[in-house]
Amino acid sequence: MSADLIDGKAFAEKLKADIARQVSALKEQYDLTPGLAVVLVGEDPASQIYVRNKNKSTAAAGMNSFEYPMESNVSEAELLDLVARLNNDPAVHGILVQLPLPPHINEAAVIDAIAPEKDVDGFHVINSGLLATGGNGMVPCTPLGCIMLLRDRLGDMSGLEAVIVGRSNIVGKPMAQLLLNENCTVTIAHSRTRDLARVVGRADIVIAAVGRPELVRGSWIRDGATVIDVGINRMAKEDGKSRLVGDVEYAEAAKHAAAITPVPGGVGPMTIAVLLKNTVTAACRQANIPEPELSSDV
Ligand code: NAD
Repeated sequence: MSADLIDGKAFAEKLKADIARQVSALKEQYDLTPGLAVVLVGEDPASQIYVRNKNKSTAAAGMNSFEYPMESNVSEAELLDLVARLNNDPAVHGILVQLPLPPHINEAAVIDAIAPEKDVDGFHVINSGLLATGGNGMVPCTPLGCIMLLRDRLGDMSGLEAVIVGRSNIVGKPMAQLLLNENCTVTIAHSRTRDLARVVGRADIVIAAVGRPELVRGSWIRDGATVIDVGINRMAKEDGKSRLVGDVEYAEAAKHAAAITPVPGGVGPMTIAVLLKNTVTAACRQANIPEPELSSDV
Protein backbone atom coordinates (compact mmCIF):
# COMPACT_ATOMS: atom_id res chain seq x y z
CA MET A 1 0.00 0.00 0.00
CA SER A 2 1.23 3.53 -0.70
CA ALA A 3 -0.53 6.27 1.24
CA ASP A 4 -2.33 9.25 -0.25
CA LEU A 5 -0.76 12.56 0.68
CA ILE A 6 -2.92 14.84 2.82
CA ASP A 7 -1.97 18.18 1.34
CA GLY A 8 -2.31 20.64 4.22
CA LYS A 9 -0.64 23.38 2.23
CA ALA A 10 -3.24 23.25 -0.55
CA PHE A 11 -6.10 22.99 1.97
CA ALA A 12 -4.74 25.98 3.91
CA GLU A 13 -4.52 28.06 0.71
CA LYS A 14 -8.22 27.34 0.00
CA LEU A 15 -9.12 28.21 3.58
CA LYS A 16 -7.15 31.48 3.47
CA ALA A 17 -8.81 32.48 0.18
CA ASP A 18 -12.21 31.80 1.75
CA ILE A 19 -11.29 33.87 4.81
CA ALA A 20 -10.20 36.79 2.58
CA ARG A 21 -13.62 36.60 0.92
CA GLN A 22 -15.32 36.66 4.36
CA VAL A 23 -13.21 39.62 5.49
CA SER A 24 -14.13 41.67 2.45
CA ALA A 25 -17.84 40.87 3.02
CA LEU A 26 -17.55 41.92 6.69
CA LYS A 27 -16.00 45.23 5.65
CA GLU A 28 -18.70 45.87 3.08
CA GLN A 29 -21.73 44.80 5.13
CA TYR A 30 -20.73 45.81 8.66
CA ASP A 31 -17.75 48.15 8.23
CA LEU A 32 -15.82 45.63 10.37
CA THR A 33 -12.12 44.86 9.80
CA PRO A 34 -10.93 42.00 12.02
CA GLY A 35 -7.65 42.86 13.78
CA LEU A 36 -4.99 40.53 15.19
CA ALA A 37 -2.32 41.69 17.66
CA VAL A 38 0.79 39.50 17.91
CA VAL A 39 3.15 39.96 20.83
CA LEU A 40 6.69 38.60 20.47
CA VAL A 41 9.04 38.68 23.45
CA GLY A 42 12.75 38.24 22.67
CA GLU A 43 14.51 37.07 19.55
CA ASP A 44 13.99 33.31 19.32
CA PRO A 45 14.64 32.66 15.58
CA ALA A 46 11.81 30.09 15.16
CA SER A 47 9.33 32.41 16.92
CA GLN A 48 10.43 35.31 14.71
CA ILE A 49 9.70 33.24 11.58
CA TYR A 50 6.27 32.16 12.91
CA VAL A 51 5.35 35.74 13.84
CA ARG A 52 6.48 37.12 10.47
CA ASN A 53 4.35 34.50 8.67
CA LYS A 54 1.35 35.21 10.89
CA ASN A 55 1.57 38.96 10.24
CA LYS A 56 2.00 38.46 6.49
CA SER A 57 -0.99 36.09 6.27
CA THR A 58 -3.18 38.39 8.38
CA ALA A 59 -2.47 41.36 6.11
CA ALA A 60 -2.89 39.24 2.97
CA ALA A 61 -6.39 38.25 4.15
CA GLY A 62 -7.30 41.96 4.37
CA MET A 63 -7.25 42.09 8.19
CA ASN A 64 -5.43 44.54 10.41
CA SER A 65 -2.18 43.18 11.80
CA PHE A 66 -0.63 44.81 14.87
CA GLU A 67 2.89 43.83 15.93
CA TYR A 68 4.30 44.23 19.43
CA PRO A 69 7.97 43.18 19.61
CA MET A 70 9.34 43.34 23.17
CA GLU A 71 12.85 42.96 24.56
CA SER A 72 13.62 39.58 26.18
CA ASN A 73 14.20 41.32 29.54
CA VAL A 74 10.72 42.91 29.58
CA SER A 75 9.09 42.48 33.00
CA GLU A 76 5.97 40.39 33.52
CA ALA A 77 4.18 43.54 34.74
CA GLU A 78 4.97 45.39 31.49
CA LEU A 79 3.74 42.45 29.42
CA LEU A 80 0.53 42.21 31.48
CA ASP A 81 0.06 45.94 31.02
CA LEU A 82 0.28 45.56 27.22
CA VAL A 83 -2.21 42.67 27.29
CA ALA A 84 -4.62 44.82 29.36
CA ARG A 85 -4.37 47.64 26.79
CA LEU A 86 -5.01 45.22 23.92
CA ASN A 87 -7.99 43.74 25.79
CA ASN A 88 -9.50 47.24 25.82
CA ASP A 89 -8.63 48.19 22.23
CA PRO A 90 -11.75 47.86 20.04
CA ALA A 91 -9.64 47.54 16.85
CA VAL A 92 -8.01 44.38 18.27
CA HIS A 93 -10.25 41.29 18.08
CA GLY A 94 -7.56 38.66 18.57
CA ILE A 95 -4.48 38.62 20.81
CA LEU A 96 -1.69 36.12 20.40
CA VAL A 97 1.33 36.03 22.69
CA GLN A 98 3.96 33.93 20.95
CA LEU A 99 5.24 31.08 23.15
CA PRO A 100 7.60 30.17 24.65
CA LEU A 101 8.13 33.19 26.94
CA PRO A 102 11.44 33.77 28.78
CA PRO A 103 11.72 31.84 32.07
CA HIS A 104 11.25 34.92 34.31
CA ILE A 105 7.69 35.35 32.98
CA ASN A 106 4.81 33.20 34.19
CA GLU A 107 3.31 31.92 30.93
CA ALA A 108 0.00 30.81 32.47
CA ALA A 109 -0.51 34.22 34.11
CA VAL A 110 -0.02 35.98 30.78
CA ILE A 111 -2.33 33.64 28.86
CA ASP A 112 -5.03 33.96 31.50
CA ALA A 113 -4.76 37.77 31.39
CA ILE A 114 -5.96 37.73 27.76
CA ALA A 115 -9.71 38.38 27.49
CA PRO A 116 -11.12 34.90 26.67
CA GLU A 117 -13.12 36.26 23.71
CA LYS A 118 -9.86 37.65 22.21
CA ASP A 119 -7.83 34.49 22.96
CA VAL A 120 -7.49 33.31 19.34
CA ASP A 121 -4.95 30.65 20.39
CA GLY A 122 -7.62 29.08 22.60
CA PHE A 123 -5.19 28.50 25.50
CA HIS A 124 -7.07 30.46 28.23
CA VAL A 125 -8.49 28.21 30.99
CA ILE A 126 -11.99 29.42 30.15
CA ASN A 127 -11.55 28.30 26.56
CA SER A 128 -10.04 24.93 27.56
CA GLY A 129 -12.95 24.50 29.96
CA LEU A 130 -15.48 25.34 27.27
CA LEU A 131 -13.86 22.84 24.89
CA ALA A 132 -13.92 20.15 27.59
CA THR A 133 -17.60 20.74 28.40
CA GLY A 134 -18.95 21.15 24.86
CA GLY A 135 -19.19 24.97 24.97
CA ASN A 136 -18.56 27.44 22.19
CA GLY A 137 -15.17 28.97 23.05
CA MET A 138 -12.06 29.65 20.97
CA VAL A 139 -10.45 26.36 19.85
CA PRO A 140 -6.62 25.96 19.63
CA CYS A 141 -5.46 26.42 16.04
CA THR A 142 -3.27 23.36 15.45
CA PRO A 143 -5.74 20.74 16.74
CA LEU A 144 -8.61 22.44 14.89
CA GLY A 145 -6.51 22.40 11.70
CA CYS A 146 -5.93 18.64 12.19
CA ILE A 147 -9.67 18.06 12.61
CA MET A 148 -10.42 19.97 9.41
CA LEU A 149 -7.95 17.78 7.49
CA LEU A 150 -9.43 14.63 9.03
CA ARG A 151 -13.02 15.64 8.27
CA ASP A 152 -12.03 16.40 4.69
CA ARG A 153 -10.37 12.99 4.33
CA LEU A 154 -12.65 10.74 6.39
CA GLY A 155 -16.01 12.51 6.75
CA ASP A 156 -17.83 10.79 9.62
CA MET A 157 -15.32 9.56 12.22
CA SER A 158 -17.85 7.95 14.60
CA GLY A 159 -16.52 4.88 16.34
CA LEU A 160 -12.98 5.11 14.94
CA GLU A 161 -10.03 4.41 17.25
CA ALA A 162 -7.89 7.55 17.56
CA VAL A 163 -4.50 7.52 19.27
CA ILE A 164 -2.76 10.79 20.07
CA VAL A 165 0.91 10.60 21.00
CA GLY A 166 1.65 13.62 23.25
CA ARG A 167 -0.37 15.17 26.08
CA SER A 168 0.53 18.88 25.88
CA ASN A 169 -2.03 21.56 26.70
CA ILE A 170 -1.63 23.14 23.29
CA VAL A 171 -1.88 20.07 21.05
CA GLY A 172 -2.45 16.66 22.67
CA LYS A 173 -5.22 17.45 25.17
CA PRO A 174 -7.38 19.73 22.98
CA MET A 175 -6.90 17.24 20.12
CA ALA A 176 -8.41 14.54 22.34
CA GLN A 177 -11.45 16.71 23.12
CA LEU A 178 -12.02 17.47 19.45
CA LEU A 179 -11.77 13.79 18.47
CA LEU A 180 -14.22 12.91 21.25
CA ASN A 181 -16.60 15.47 19.74
CA GLU A 182 -16.24 13.53 16.47
CA ASN A 183 -17.33 10.39 18.38
CA CYS A 184 -13.96 8.67 18.14
CA THR A 185 -12.69 6.31 20.83
CA VAL A 186 -9.71 8.29 22.05
CA THR A 187 -6.44 7.25 23.67
CA ILE A 188 -3.74 9.71 24.70
CA ALA A 189 -0.29 8.13 24.79
CA HIS A 190 2.71 9.91 26.33
CA SER A 191 6.26 9.51 27.60
CA ARG A 192 5.20 6.98 30.28
CA THR A 193 3.01 4.86 28.01
CA ARG A 194 3.92 1.18 28.07
CA ASP A 195 4.34 -0.52 24.67
CA LEU A 196 3.69 2.53 22.49
CA ALA A 197 4.01 0.37 19.36
CA ARG A 198 1.03 -1.75 20.40
CA VAL A 199 -1.09 1.28 21.35
CA VAL A 200 -0.37 3.07 18.05
CA GLY A 201 -0.91 -0.18 16.16
CA ARG A 202 -4.61 -0.33 17.03
CA ALA A 203 -5.39 3.17 15.74
CA ASP A 204 -7.51 4.07 12.73
CA ILE A 205 -6.30 7.64 13.27
CA VAL A 206 -2.81 8.45 14.60
CA ILE A 207 -1.92 11.98 15.70
CA ALA A 208 1.77 12.44 16.52
CA ALA A 209 2.60 15.53 18.62
CA VAL A 210 5.78 14.73 20.50
CA GLY A 211 8.63 16.84 19.18
CA ARG A 212 10.99 13.88 18.61
CA PRO A 213 12.09 13.14 15.05
CA GLU A 214 10.51 9.96 13.65
CA LEU A 215 9.67 8.60 17.12
CA VAL A 216 6.56 6.93 15.69
CA ARG A 217 7.95 4.11 13.58
CA GLY A 218 6.35 3.27 10.25
CA SER A 219 6.01 -0.43 11.12
CA TRP A 220 3.71 0.47 14.06
CA ILE A 221 1.05 1.94 11.75
CA ARG A 222 -1.96 -0.28 11.14
CA ASP A 223 -2.74 -0.93 7.45
CA GLY A 224 -5.24 1.62 6.22
CA ALA A 225 -4.79 4.13 9.07
CA THR A 226 -4.85 7.91 8.64
CA VAL A 227 -1.74 9.60 10.04
CA ILE A 228 -1.49 13.25 11.06
CA ASP A 229 2.04 14.35 11.92
CA VAL A 230 2.12 17.55 14.00
CA GLY A 231 5.83 17.37 14.82
CA ILE A 232 8.29 19.91 13.46
CA ASN A 233 11.91 18.97 14.12
CA ARG A 234 14.82 20.80 12.50
CA MET A 235 17.65 18.40 11.63
CA ALA A 236 21.18 19.41 10.60
CA LYS A 237 22.32 18.12 7.22
CA GLU A 238 25.91 17.28 6.25
CA ASP A 239 26.16 20.36 3.99
CA GLY A 240 25.53 22.61 7.01
CA LYS A 241 21.93 23.36 5.99
CA SER A 242 18.93 21.91 7.79
CA ARG A 243 15.72 20.09 6.92
CA LEU A 244 12.40 19.62 8.72
CA VAL A 245 11.36 16.17 9.91
CA GLY A 246 8.12 15.12 11.57
CA ASP A 247 7.46 12.86 14.55
CA VAL A 248 6.54 9.97 12.21
CA GLU A 249 8.94 7.86 10.16
CA TYR A 250 7.25 9.06 6.98
CA ALA A 251 8.59 6.80 4.21
CA GLU A 252 7.92 3.59 6.16
CA ALA A 253 4.57 4.80 7.55
CA ALA A 254 3.40 5.66 4.02
CA LYS A 255 3.71 1.95 3.13
CA HIS A 256 1.01 1.08 5.70
CA ALA A 257 -1.22 4.16 6.03
CA ALA A 258 -4.08 4.97 3.68
CA ALA A 259 -3.31 8.69 4.05
CA ILE A 260 -0.60 10.75 5.75
CA THR A 261 0.41 14.39 6.18
CA PRO A 262 3.93 15.36 5.07
CA VAL A 263 6.34 17.56 7.06
CA PRO A 264 6.63 20.27 5.92
CA GLY A 265 3.39 21.02 4.06
CA GLY A 266 0.93 19.17 6.29
CA VAL A 267 -0.32 20.51 9.62
CA GLY A 268 1.99 23.57 9.78
CA PRO A 269 0.24 25.67 7.10
CA MET A 270 -3.16 24.80 8.60
CA THR A 271 -2.21 26.37 11.95
CA ILE A 272 -1.85 29.85 10.45
CA ALA A 273 -4.99 29.53 8.32
CA VAL A 274 -7.02 28.52 11.40
CA LEU A 275 -5.55 31.45 13.35
CA LEU A 276 -7.05 33.76 10.70
CA LYS A 277 -10.35 31.87 10.90
CA ASN A 278 -10.36 32.24 14.71
CA THR A 279 -9.70 35.98 14.38
CA VAL A 280 -12.72 36.36 12.08
CA THR A 281 -14.82 34.31 14.53
CA ALA A 282 -13.64 36.48 17.45
CA ALA A 283 -14.39 39.73 15.55
CA CYS A 284 -17.92 38.59 14.66
CA ARG A 285 -18.68 37.45 18.22
CA GLN A 286 -17.42 40.75 19.66
CA ALA A 287 -19.46 42.74 17.14
CA ASN A 288 -22.49 40.51 17.79
CA ILE A 289 -22.98 39.61 14.15
CA PRO A 290 -23.41 36.15 12.56
CA GLU A 291 -20.22 34.18 11.96
CA PRO A 292 -19.62 33.63 8.22
CA GLU A 293 -20.00 30.07 6.90
CA LEU A 294 -17.03 28.45 5.17
CA SER A 295 -17.71 27.85 1.48
CA SER A 296 -18.62 24.29 0.54
CA ASP A 297 -15.26 23.38 -1.01
CA VAL A 298 -13.29 24.05 2.22
P1 NAD B 1 5.44 19.29 24.27
O1 NAD B 1 6.92 19.15 24.44
O2 NAD B 1 4.70 20.26 25.08
O3 NAD B 1 4.78 17.87 24.51
C1 NAD B 1 5.36 16.70 24.00
C2 NAD B 1 4.57 15.51 24.48
O4 NAD B 1 5.18 14.35 23.94
C3 NAD B 1 4.53 15.35 25.99
O5 NAD B 1 3.17 15.30 26.38
C4 NAD B 1 5.22 14.03 26.29
O6 NAD B 1 4.54 13.22 27.23
C5 NAD B 1 5.20 13.34 24.94
N1 NAD B 1 6.41 12.52 24.78
C6 NAD B 1 7.69 12.89 24.97
N2 NAD B 1 8.50 11.85 24.76
C7 NAD B 1 7.73 10.80 24.45
C8 NAD B 1 7.99 9.44 24.15
N3 NAD B 1 9.24 8.96 24.11
N4 NAD B 1 6.95 8.65 23.87
C9 NAD B 1 5.69 9.12 23.89
N5 NAD B 1 5.38 10.41 24.17
C10 NAD B 1 6.39 11.22 24.45
O7 NAD B 1 5.23 19.50 22.70
P2 NAD B 1 4.02 20.21 21.88
O8 NAD B 1 4.04 21.66 22.12
O9 NAD B 1 2.76 19.44 22.02
O10 NAD B 1 4.59 20.00 20.39
C11 NAD B 1 4.79 18.70 19.87
C12 NAD B 1 5.39 18.84 18.48
O11 NAD B 1 4.46 19.49 17.64
C13 NAD B 1 6.67 19.67 18.41
O12 NAD B 1 7.51 19.12 17.39
C14 NAD B 1 6.18 21.04 17.98
O13 NAD B 1 7.17 21.78 17.26
C15 NAD B 1 5.07 20.63 17.05
N6 NAD B 1 4.02 21.65 16.89
C16 NAD B 1 3.66 21.95 15.62
C17 NAD B 1 2.67 22.87 15.38
C18 NAD B 1 2.27 23.14 13.97
O14 NAD B 1 1.73 24.20 13.69
N7 NAD B 1 2.48 22.19 13.06
C19 NAD B 1 2.05 23.52 16.45
C20 NAD B 1 2.41 23.17 17.75
C21 NAD B 1 3.40 22.22 17.97
